[in-house]
Amino acid sequence: MTLVNETSALLSKLGVSAAALSAGDLAVSSPVTGETIATVAQVSAATAANAIDEAHAAFLEWRKVPAPRRGELVRLLGEELRAHKDELGRLVSIEVGKIPSEGLGEVQEMIDICDFAVGLSRQLYGLTIATERPGHRMMETWHPLGVVGVISAFNFPVAVWSWNAALALVCGDSVVWKPSEKTPLTALACEAIFARAVKRFGDDAPHGLLKVLVGGADVGEALVDHPRVPLVSATGSTRMGRAVGPRLAGRFARAVLELGGNNAGIVCPSADLDMALRAIAFGAMGTAGQRCTTMRRLFVHESVYDQIVPRLKKAYESVTVGNPLEGKALIGPLIDKAAFDGMQKALEEAKAAGGSVTGGVRVDAGHAEAFYVRPAIVEMPSQTGPVMEETFAPILYVMKYSDFDAVIAEHNAVGAGLSSSIFTRDIQEAERFLSAEGSDCGIANVNIGTSGAEIGGAFGGEKETGGGRESGSDAWKAYMRRATNTVNYSKALPLAQGVSFDI
Ligand code: NAD
Repeated sequence: MTLVNETSALLSKLGVSAAALSAGDLAVSSPVTGETIATVAQVSAATAANAIDEAHAAFLEWRKVPAPRRGELVRLLGEELRAHKDELGRLVSIEVGKIPSEGLGEVQEMIDICDFAVGLSRQLYGLTIATERPGHRMMETWHPLGVVGVISAFNFPVAVWSWNAALALVCGDSVVWKPSEKTPLTALACEAIFARAVKRFGDDAPHGLLKVLVGGADVGEALVDHPRVPLVSATGSTRMGRAVGPRLAGRFARAVLELGGNNAGIVCPSADLDMALRAIAFGAMGTAGQRCTTMRRLFVHESVYDQIVPRLKKAYESVTVGNPLEGKALIGPLIDKAAFDGMQKALEEAKAAGGSVTGGVRVDAGHAEAFYVRPAIVEMPSQTGPVMEETFAPILYVMKYSDFDAVIAEHNAVGAGLSSSIFTRDIQEAERFLSAEGSDCGIANVNIGTSGAEIGGAFGGEKETGGGRESGSDAWKAYMRRATNTVNYSKALPLAQGVSFDI
């Protein structure tokens, strides 16, 4: 079966009509072969505004549905995702080039967040707070917020939507989603899967709870600027966040910004080197280096440098790069030519800064428009030049260190602050890394890599990563508004702070 036919068959199984695949002028290509697999319709700014108005009308109804009942819709969404895991996972592999276990893993993450959100629908707790006034009760209540805008990146084309949507829905919000223009097909598939869940749920799910807006940055801007969208959760590059953040601030809307990472690992003298090797290999090469949490920098203590770096280089030279759909390769393609060019440019800059490059060359997979590349490991004399920035490709910069305090400072010296890890069996090093004086990232790990987070924890990073948190823990609070309520059940009217105002 050709890729075009397979894509169309998968989408039809998921509930997307064949007509939608040739309905417009946005060409969707698969990075696996570089061929165009669909041309879908994009929305105009005016259509986007109408969709947001519809989602707002849906919100006005949905907020009245009790939260545990809202959880039932998300439970059904989880069931639909379980039933269609294979098809959706395969579609992720076709549209993004992920290897099968990662395509399926992304759908599993969607199922996991649905399970989490169902439980959460009975746990949207507020506090009861001691009041200084006799005969009074003070408490906080969490209310639905409104339309939640979701802007997502190409590399997690479905999971990021679900992290936001599952929470937003149980919190009583409606969702308007602007997926990456590189991955609209998986978004259309999610829309169809969600529609099935709504159908099974029944009449108290208002029409317009989820709207999908296919289009580019201009459509994203329409979402960002719309006054009826009190929260936008935007995932993508720091460049995108710099554009979106101030616009949202300008109208006092909330932003959950999930931006670029420049994540590092530190290998200490006591590290279990076999374990570190495996964790670094997955963290740095997995998903062809196209995860926000991909390990991009590695600091290795001088005493173990010669024991681990040559082994890492060997792994880089031998790892299988190739067509992810055939199930043998561990490294699939880059998303497009621009990603390949960006990688080559960074490698040139690294060489100019004294780096010694292993790998990084294009791998011929028999498709002129598909960009497969051997991951690159670059030994650098110091942290300089392209090491300071995220290049969204499989490049690992390796640097030697001798002093623990100095390496923590180096670790924290870049703009991004998403994920970090340390490999050590020295409890003092591990605890210092996790302490206030240690890693400055939103995610800090010990003896595991930088990538592969679970949904139970809050996900996100500091500094140029944007500061947003989504997924688990108390990330749900961003999707609700908090009201502090004070009730006077006495017959007097005592004022706080002893103020008297007798008229
Ligand atoms: P991108 O910034 O090019 O695009 C991301 C999304 O933002 C797309 O939907 C795009 O259309 C939209 N967009 C771009 N400019 C916009 C604007 N001015 N206004 C509104 N919307 C706009 O990113 P990408 O290439 O798709 O994804 C890779 C980047 O995403 C990397 O930097 C990666 O680290 C980051 N990322 C971060 C996380 C995280 O959770 N921190 C997760 C995944 C990806």
